[in-house]
Formats: sequence, structure tokens, C-alpha cells
Amino acid sequence: MPRTPNAQPYCSFCGADLEQKLGPVLRRGEMYSLFYCNECGVGETWPRPDTETLARLYAPGEYRADEGKRFIAPIEYLFELHKKWLIWRIGASMRVGRLLDVGCGSGYLASLFAGAGWDVTGLERDENTAVHARETYQIPVVTDIADADGHFDLIMINHVLEHLDNPMMLLEECKGRLAAGGKLVVAVPNFGSLQSIVAGDGWFHLDLPIHLYHFSERGLVTLLSKAGFTVVKRSHADWIQNIYGWLQSLLNRAGISHNSLYDLLRIKDGASVLKMQRPALISLLSCVWALPLALIGIFVERLCRSGGVIRCTAVVAPVETKK
Ligand SMILES: [Zn+2]
Repeated sequence: MPRTPNAQPYCSFCGADLEQKLGPVLRRGEMYSLFYCNECGVGETWPRPDTETLARLYAPGEYRADEGKRFIAPIEYLFELHKKWLIWRIGASMRVGRLLDVGCGSGYLASLFAGAGWDVTGLERDENTAVHARETYQIPVVTDIADADGHFDLIMINHVLEHLDNPMMLLEECKGRLAAGGKLVVAVPNFGSLQSIVAGDGWFHLDLPIHLYHFSERGLVTLLSKAGFTVVKRSHADWIQNIYGWLQSLLNRAGISHNSLYDLLRIKDGASVLKMQRPALISLLSCVWALPLALIGIFVERLCRSGGVIRCTAVVAPVETKK
């Protein structure tokens, strides 16, 4: 899928012309738009940030924290509960076996799987983060899928695909690493969700320009199909991501400084709270009206099956043979 960066907005997957859906909007010091392929159901960030910009955006302390934890303790606890629930759900539907956690980051989720009996390997392309995961959780972590041994019963790609320059290549590599009967589980923000439609360019999970791709449910299913998978299950159940998506998106939509509540929740020490800026304080007070609306949003999106996150479970599609 060769492509000249920023030369012309056409779809990376099917070559069709893209339609501008959002923007231009100022994010992290630059103007960005979202162009969308109506054939595939996938959007792309435009212009595509260059390697230098991405390196700056992903620097420790910016997108991710060195120690792998990004939020105040109660939020981290909720994330932990959600991860354990996810492991329980997967464990209830298949036998414990070999797991590859793609984009394992700090290695925490992989370590929870290991604690539940899975034989875990992490894949993390950032060497420093990989070293941290190995040392902290004593799990094998590779920086290239080619370095992982053998085949896997389960491959998880959890909120990673939207960050990649070439998501199709990763999916095809994963297909080659699934054991017979193995499952691929992919979760991404749902660009076609109700919260995305309501919030527009204020949608929290849009995350321009860090997210290079923006998948609708149809888009993710289409991409998996193009890579040779058949989707066997779809789920929108990600309560933390979904409710926070609504809450922060409503605050953004109301014109409060972009993602200022999110910045507040990343404050980890009490002294920093005392230095709280006015937008963060307004965000906090605004939760009085925004939280009830977010709960209504969760309820409605549940009814519409249009949650802020889409998770697909897929298996390798059977090869069609000519009679
Ligand atoms: Zn397309």
C-alpha cells in the first residue's frame, strides 16, 4: 500500500478519493482535518504528521508516562477493574493458551493475563518501554513481531491500530501468527458512534493527530475482511472509555478549554492540584451537569449499539477453493 505522504487525500486501503468530514482544527499546535473514505468506512488524519512530530507527541510524559500509569489512583483502579473484566470475558469464551499482546505498553495488561494462566508475549515497538515491561513484570516483550516465537491462540490489538502508519500490514502479520482456531481481538475508538456524531471535532477519542486512522464499525470489519479475517463477534461494551468519551466530549462541545478535565485527571500529586488552572476548575464544576448527560448518552448509545469503542473478535477466513 505505497503512499506519498500528504500528497493527495486518497484512501490508503482502496485508493478512492476521500471526503473531508472534520476540520481543519487546531490540535497540538498545528491544523488538522479528517478525510473519510465512504467505500471503506475509515477516516484518515490530514495532513499526516511527520516522524519528528510523532516522536515529540509520543515522548514520555506527553502521551505516555514512564511507569505506564497516566492517571490519578481512582481512575487507574477503574482501568484495572475493566482489564480484569475483559480477561474474564475472554477466558469464558476460549481455553487459556498462548497470547500475543500487540502494543503492550507498560506490560500491565499482559501481566494480568499471565496471572490468569496465559502464556504471554508482549509486542512493543518502543525499546525503552519494552525494557520497562520486561523488568517490571518479567514477561517476554519483543519489539518486532518477527522476533516472537511460534503461533498464538489469542492476539490482542487493544487501541493500537488507529496509531499505526500501516494497520493492514500489522493485521496481515498477525494472521500469519494465529494458531489453528486462534482468535484476534481488535478494539478501536468508534468514529461512527453516537458520541462522535454529537461531539464532532470535540470528540474526545478523535485525538488528532495522534490517531492517524479513524474507524467506524463498518470500517474495522472491512479492514479485517481485506486482511483475510472473518468477524465472529462485535462488542461496544467498554464502560470506562465510553462514559469518559461522553463526559469529556460534552465539556469540549460546551466550549470549555479542550480536554482540560483529562489534563486534570492526569495530575498525580496533591501539590499540582493547588496549581489548578481556571479551565480545569471550570471542567470539574461542569461535571455537575455533564455527568448526568453522559449517563443518558451511555444509555442511548447502548440501545442504538453505537458505543464510543468497538471491539471485534475475528478468526482467519476459510480459503475459498474453486470446484
Ligand atoms: Zn477506502
